[in-house]
Amino acid sequence: MDYSREIEGKRVHDPYCNWPNDKISRSKRCVWVPGPVIVGAGPSGLAAAACLKEKGVPSLVLERSNCIASLWQLKTYDRLRLHLPKQFCELPLMSFPQEFPTYPTKQQFIHYLESYAKKFDIRPLFNQTVLCAEYDQNLGLWRVRATGLKEEETEYVCRWLIVATGENAAEVVPQIEGIEEFGGIIVHTSRYKSGDAFKGNKVLVVGCGNSGMEVCLDLCNHNASPSLVVRDTVHILPREMLGRSTFGLSMWLLKWLPMRLVDRFLLIVSWLILGDTGRFGLDRPQVGPLELKNLSGKTPVLDVGTLAKIKSGDIKICPSIKRLRHQSVEFVDGRSENFDSIILATGYKSNVPSWLKEREMFSEKDGLPKKPFPNGWKGECGLYAVGFTKRGLLGASMDATNIAQDIETCWKADAKHFSATFN
Ligand SMILES: Cc1cc2nc3c(=O)[nH]c(=O)nc-3n(C[C@H](O)[C@H](O)[C@H](O)COP(=O)(O)OP(=O)(O)OC[C@H]3O[C@@H](n4cnc5c(N)ncnc54)[C@H](O)[C@@H]3O)c2cc1C
Repeated sequence: MDYSREIEGKRVHDPYCNWPNDKISRSKRCVWVPGPVIVGAGPSGLAAAACLKEKGVPSLVLERSNCIASLWQLKTYDRLRLHLPKQFCELPLMSFPQEFPTYPTKQQFIHYLESYAKKFDIRPLFNQTVLCAEYDQNLGLWRVRATGLKEEETEYVCRWLIVATGENAAEVVPQIEGIEEFGGIIVHTSRYKSGDAFKGNKVLVVGCGNSGMEVCLDLCNHNASPSLVVRDTVHILPREMLGRSTFGLSMWLLKWLPMRLVDRFLLIVSWLILGDTGRFGLDRPQVGPLELKNLSGKTPVLDVGTLAKIKSGDIKICPSIKRLRHQSVEFVDGRSENFDSIILATGYKSNVPSWLKEREMFSEKDGLPKKPFPNGWKGECGLYAVGFTKRGLLGASMDATNIAQDIETCWKADAKHFSATFN
């Protein structure tokens, strides 16, 4: 079904479109959506739409960019592959093609998502940035205000609202003293494509998560000279151990052993494979990798070859930045060094508090659901969240399945009530 055409038609006959005393002027477009509105056409939004479709519930997906999976298509570097084996990254109801490698490339993952959208006939409305979503107590409905490319506004009115804008909706850019003096290129990893553009350059990478570590490796492979700012302790684990993926092995061990013991095991095997990472300036946190992930959401780095480059001295480790000067960086230990460019691998955050006018389900501080996993997917008054579990695509798939089941119950009850009233 072409939803945009369908809703255009409905709008004309829509009783909600011209509310008296409405804050929004009558000239603005207003659209009644019979099923849920899903904000965001990333993997989470697509998974929610597919699970609903399978239950016979139509939905409308609103996406601010001009494509599905905009994080993957527009904001990731060329050499990116899924960090976790493919069986942990599948969306519900459709497996990866058999011929895909264990760690699919970014292009393969995008291809999979495009096939997924096609299979479930998910056609998001693109270039629709949601500015505000608010529950109208009088109507018992959600009012979702979005703007298009020409800044034309549309209000979507619906009974269910599914937040799928992701944990990575906005770049985190740190305040660094002297940033305006630096003069060289300063970019966030969301705009970094390949080390090709930095050939022969001295580059400082800020942040030692999975992206920062991999960008350093990519820079090395393109004959740049990267240095890595490590401000905090970090767990680095080999991507594979004992012939299995470290993630898969951990999940399996957790079925039989307590988390502390699995952490102990991971650290011993990592030490045997990688050696003492502290010797190279990468101290480990006191708490084990899985426990830390559970407590703070901080993901361990899965090494894909960066550590060898750190050991060989091709990648240098630096302490925190004190301030920037023209083409140079002053570190907190008093040292200064010249750099051509700086890449900020400083992560992302949720943008939910900027547009969702609701303070019960989502924390204003970090834009994530307040209820801990696995209960963060459901709020009040038909509000849902998919993909905010800090558990990647696996967590998103669980949310999507739960949400579709929950909404299906109401949808079917409504349909029964409707047919009893009108037949
Ligand atoms: C570099 C990188 C590698 C990763 N690798 C893995 C991996 O291997 N395995 C794994 O499980 N996870 C991985 N992740 C985690 C990642 O979060 C998920 O893979 C996935 O992209 C999350 O999907 P999502 O739909 O929740 O969020 P996103 O993919 O961020 O999609 C959210 C969508 O919402 C849209 N949006 C945001 N705000 C608005 C608005 N106001 N109005 C309308 N639309 C809006 C965005 O444009 C975007 O398209 C990785 C993340 C990164 C950054």
